[in-house]
Amino acid sequence: MLASMGVSVSMLASGSRGNCAIVASASTKILVDAGISCRETFKRMKALGDDPRLLSAILITHEHSDHVYGLATLAKKLRIPIFMTGATHQVWARAMRDANGNRPQLEKLERFEAGHRFQVGDIAVQPFTIPHDAADPVGFTFRAEGIKVGVATDLGYIPVSVRDHLRGCDVLVMESNHDVEMLRVGPYPWSVKQRVMSRVGHLSNVALADFFTNDYDNNAAFVVLAHLSEQNNHPEIARREAERALAMRGGLFANHVLLASQTEALQPIRL
Ligand SMILES: [Zn+2]
Ligand SMILES: [Zn+2]
Repeated sequence: MLASMGVSVSMLASGSRGNCAIVASASTKILVDAGISCRETFKRMKALGDDPRLLSAILITHEHSDHVYGLATLAKKLRIPIFMTGATHQVWARAMRDANGNRPQLEKLERFEAGHRFQVGDIAVQPFTIPHDAADPVGFTFRAEGIKVGVATDLGYIPVSVRDHLRGCDVLVMESNHDVEMLRVGPYPWSVKQRVMSRVGHLSNVALADFFTNDYDNNAAFVVLAHLSEQNNHPEIARREAERALAMRGGLFANHVLLASQTEALQPIRL
């Protein structure tokens, strides 16, 4: 007997040393990004009681190594469809060439385009363009069983188009990368600081708070703060900023704020 298990979101890893999450319905299990090793991905899934052999597909947001580090091995082991945009695939394949210049072959590559919805099993996926310094970076929303999940990390700011896509989410995974002051006085070289702070860099705590205060529809039961910098942020600072902004909207108790971790998987969020 299989009762409906609803929709779940598992944050396996989040941050500049690797990003990986699972969005699942009762019958479909999507790996969102493959930024930690295959072995570590399997280990973290098993720790949550999850079976890697049940994964349906892997979706890639962009080609930065903290999102694709484990991809080649995972693709080879699991032999499931890999969804990337054409431009992301091109840059990834070029970077992955072996000593003889041969590009890696993905057995089941599925190209998608930002703005064009597609289906993986019973999950409807909507990819949308985000402002980030990669070839063709995207965020995603996922819909199944009347539940909507939004994932937007690695973005320099939140354009109107992204705000529109994130409306009505029941789970919202948002980047809360850095504390601007910590980044400013921190150890990064100036060029890197400039990159992180730019319109195609990463979202700061205060930029996310501004979104919560001014543009967010207060709809999500769970807000996950993700891609936190280990150098230029602190989980409690990120949490405080987000909760303060949500409280201003009277939404603090409606939105359960969670912090995704670099070093261990979060317990699955179930809806
Ligand atoms: Zn990136
Ligand atoms: Zn990243």
